[in-house]
Amino acid sequence: MTLHTSPTRTATDPRYAGGAAYMDGTFMPLGEARIPITDWGYRRSDVVYDVVSVWDGAFFRLDDHLTRFRASMEATRLVPRETDDEIRTMLHRLIALSGLTESYVAMDCLRGAPLPGTARHPKNTRPYLIAFAIPYVRLVSPEIIERGTHAIVASAVRIPDASLDARHKNFHWADMTSGLFEADERGADMPILLDAAGNVTEGPGFNVFVIHDGRVATPDSNVLGGITRLTVIELCAELGLPCDVRPVSAEELRNADEILFSSTSGGPFGVTRIDGRILSNDRPGPLTNRLREAYWAKRKAGWHAEPVRYDLV
Ligand code: PLP
Repeated sequence: MTLHTSPTRTATDPRYAGGAAYMDGTFMPLGEARIPITDWGYRRSDVVYDVVSVWDGAFFRLDDHLTRFRASMEATRLVPRETDDEIRTMLHRLIALSGLTESYVAMDCLRGAPLPGTARHPKNTRPYLIAFAIPYVRLVSPEIIERGTHAIVASAVRIPDASLDARHKNFHWADMTSGLFEADERGADMPILLDAAGNVTEGPGFNVFVIHDGRVATPDSNVLGGITRLTVIELCAELGLPCDVRPVSAEELRNADEILFSSTSGGPFGVTRIDGRILSNDRPGPLTNRLREAYWAKRKAGWHAEPVRYDLV
């Protein structure tokens, strides 16, 4: 597939140069987008979301992101008026307006507020969609990706699936936020959260893989079904690396040969320290590098790509 690549592309309207937003049917420059302070999306974290990336002028796995977003919305009874086809066209138009060829594209469905004169119940609202496109975001800087991420096992336990299904991408991030502060205080970059039984779950914005003796494993529960996680699982199959989806204990994590994080914001990237223990001579490990290189090489070649319709401005 030929990619629609245009590194010199700029927003046709300069007001969109910093990014573009969509709010409940209307497009606007990013800086003009506002949500009402009475919205339960803000007051109750009553919102689900998704984030897809654009690289070299093409969306990555847009169908998978739209399917996951729809599942998150339906499971939480947050259903906006737009169909999936309308959301797809809206996202193309957002990128076209921004002129970005590498972008972080977020879409949220918010509860809204109870309509005037109705009881304060979520059924009395009209959920609505907002979205925005900004320059591509990485969870950690390119320098940290190069040297390897320093991670800790956080003391905060991940909110259990029994309370909130992690497969529905949500804003309940108190555990993740406390983990980020703890990592910072301990001189690390990122926390990994365990569940109440002491098994690995995920971290703020990423899924986790451990590698032992050439065998890859990633947790099977209390995690978001990451699109990059799915991609890494597919890449393992292509590269002939056995990959298991199963419970992963904290002990396995701490004794891993290699640890890999996966996220839309940065792709697969390696961990070189866990609770201060150094892995792979303090450099991202060989299998991590193979997976990371394969991911970017295949994306560049148009794998799972949907070229942006820049004509939609
Ligand atoms: N887990 C959590 C909690 C996340 O927030 C994210 C992404 O934001 C991920 C995992 C990775 O998912 P994806 O690969 O779809 O970006």
